[in-house]
Amino acid sequence: MTEISERFRDSGLAVTNCRLWIMESLIAAPGMRSTVESLFEALRHRGRRLSLSTVYAALRVMEAHHLVGRDLDGKKIIYWVPCTAAAGTLRFICRYCKAETTIHERTLHEALYRSAAEHGVAIGPNAPTLLITCQQCADRRPGVHKERRPPLPSR
Ligand SMILES: [Zn+2]
Repeated sequence: MTEISERFRDSGLAVTNCRLWIMESLIAAPGMRSTVESLFEALRHRGRRLSLSTVYAALRVMEAHHLVGRDLDGKKIIYWVPCTAAAGTLRFICRYCKAETTIHERTLHEALYRSAAEHGVAIGPNAPTLLITCQQCADRRPGVHKERRPPLPSR
């Protein structure tokens, strides 16, 4: 089950194509926030032809079910996707001991999606996983930190 389906399931709101497309476009927006106008443009860009009033109506229903949040930025209405477990989640896995740590850091998560998008990579909705060497493993394996470095000059 995808993260988007989980969001709908948890909200108790049925998934329709229209709601699904809106959620996809909103999640893909920078920082997962967008004005209705930009969202409308993004939907058209993806070939999702919905009328502006349909988008507004769907957003209101989705807001009532806490699937999206709404802010007023000056005179502009901003819709955003709230942080759920998966939305701000990053996982670290140690390549050696396989220890897994899940962190919940929305700013970093968003920055990662944004910077990947700037490099032409669209990260899917599942939690990105970073392969690391934990400090314990690095301490236990003296050679680990030198793996990709040139050898030190001998004395
Ligand atoms: Zn480790």
